[in-house]
Amino acid sequence: MAWKNRLDLHTHTDNSFDGNHSTTLLCETAAEKKLRAVAFTDHVEMDVYLEQHFDRTAKQSFFEIIKARSAFRGKLIVCAGVELGEPTYNLPEAEALLRQYSYDIVIGSIHNLRGRQDFWYLPYDSYDDATIAALLREYFDELLQLAAWGRFDTLAHLTYPLRYICGEHGFRVNLGDYAEQIDAILETAAHNKLALEINTSGLRQKLGKTMPEESVVRRFRELGGERITLGSDAHFAEHLGAGLEEGMELALRCGFTHMTLFQRREPIAIAIE
Ligand SMILES: [Zn+2]
Ligand SMILES: [Zn+2]
Repeated sequence: MAWKNRLDLHTHTDNSFDGNHSTTLLCETAAEKKLRAVAFTDHVEMDVYLEQHFDRTAKQSFFEIIKARSAFRGKLIVCAGVELGEPTYNLPEAEALLRQYSYDIVIGSIHNLRGRQDFWYLPYDSYDDATIAALLREYFDELLQLAAWGRFDTLAHLTYPLRYICGEHGFRVNLGDYAEQIDAILETAAHNKLALEINTSGLRQKLGKTMPEESVVRRFRELGGERITLGSDAHFAEHLGAGLEEGMELALRCGFTHMTLFQRREPIAIAIE
């Protein structure tokens, strides 16, 4: 089955510290791959905003996306986005950033707990199951605060720590143990009209599944969630659009008939077909 509407709403250019390819090259690749839309969502980590010069990279990222958007008009829908990391740790600057740029889409993320490093770098070898459980409870608490703040469009990679905890370090986690917390996040997101992101990067990593996985997407629907977005979280041109088909099939199985595209922060329903 050939999919008509493939929207990749979570990607990184070389204006992200971990990105590798220019906005122009990524647009060319997205057009070649016949994606209908791509959103560039470079990282702005609010907890270290000025300290790590995210004010400068945000400016460069936005400028390059606007140029690319006009260059590719008629060939590809190019959305100006941002992946806003930990906005709840620094609300004044997060809210100022959102006033400064007329983004199409804002992704809300948590990559690290307060005062700690990204989940990527934690010393898992010294952790036992109880430490992991405590970390996850704290993470889901932060995600609930993020969803309650709600001044963004889609909630990114809800099970992000599992990429490292389960995928890279082999711990077993039963999401059922966190069902109450996850339900509260999903209900709050649904209430605030946020989309839930189906992040397909986990499919090509050791985790082997989307973030979040199917049971969570289905639960979001049951709890009144109406909007989903899909994103490859590509940091390389070759990963643009990766896994979108599987993500769309998953969304259909969970009862979603449409995905959401955002333009100037307004949701537009696009059929999953
Ligand atoms: Zn992220
Ligand atoms: Zn990302």
